[in-house]
Amino acid sequence: MKNMLLRLCKSAGCFTLSSRLCRHSLQILCYHGLSFEDEHIFSPGTFMTRDTFARRLAYLRDNDFNVLDLGKAIERFRTNSLEPKSVVITVDDGFYSFYKLGVPLLKEYGYPSTLYVTSYYVKHSNPIFRLTVQYMFWKSHYNDAGLLKLLSDLTNSSLSEMHDGKQSLRKLIEHAESKLNEEERNKFLEEIANRLNVDFDKIRTQRLFSLVKIDEIQSMQTDGVDIQLHTHRHKLPEDPLEIEYEINKNREVLAPVVTSPLTHFCYPSGIWSEKHCQPLAELEIKTATTCDPGLNKPGSNLLALSRFVDSEEFADIVFDAELSCFKEVIRNAIGKC
Ligand SMILES: [Zn+2]
Repeated sequence: MKNMLLRLCKSAGCFTLSSRLCRHSLQILCYHGLSFEDEHIFSPGTFMTRDTFARRLAYLRDNDFNVLDLGKAIERFRTNSLEPKSVVITVDDGFYSFYKLGVPLLKEYGYPSTLYVTSYYVKHSNPIFRLTVQYMFWKSHYNDAGLLKLLSDLTNSSLSEMHDGKQSLRKLIEHAESKLNEEERNKFLEEIANRLNVDFDKIRTQRLFSLVKIDEIQSMQTDGVDIQLHTHRHKLPEDPLEIEYEINKNREVLAPVVTSPLTHFCYPSGIWSEKHCQPLAELEIKTATTCDPGLNKPGSNLLALSRFVDSEEFADIVFDAELSCFKEVIRNAIGKC
């Protein structure tokens, strides 16, 4: 219904009109991983099929968008010399699937991109615990009663303490992330996979939920991928000392292979507050991107830039509505997305 309305608005000329109203704004797109198998069905907000990503790039080319490198775009943005229809492509986390499927596509189109890499799993080369556990439970199609019984076994809790599957799964993840070391967590993953009868070896060898390795980060740069910061452990507390730790550790892992200055940053999961800005500026961070929707206009806070977080769930008309600024006009008119 919503998509049909958007198509009607487009055919009435609204998209053409709205695109004229935001000619001098900067649009920043956000992606995460691509899908090798069924990851886009499991989590369409995080994983996109190669075909959908290819259609997005074709749209940008066919509609004469200027896809710019982030540093260049920010410079033009600051000096008010941004060309109309300027777009930056950003990619969060550093999934192997982006390296394997996304980078060749971007290279084919000659588009630069910025990849914000979170470094803990780059260093440890294991599948991301949280995502892998969630995927395995999703894959196993456990019913609620079976899931609760299994979770009570895995966490040595009595069944009466387990209320609902989702909440208990969250507790299991929090427990493993805070109490177990990397080796124990990986063994725990194997145990869960055995109990769920899910092929963990396949997940590990296909690297469905693994990040890029350090040599892959190095090689991507020659294909126009600018590597930037995304914290070490994918979290950014508000305490200045913890912010400093996350940024410095992230830099320490990436700096040996990254050729450009590590001065651009993306808030993990887009969670940010004004309290982050001063410490980040003191750490020589020049820009920081959020997941807040909207366009960046002259005068925007460079440490809280807005982005459009694209998703496999968005039909092509939704992407079109966002890129032609029609959705921004609607957001401004009704005060919400
Ligand atoms: Zn992230």
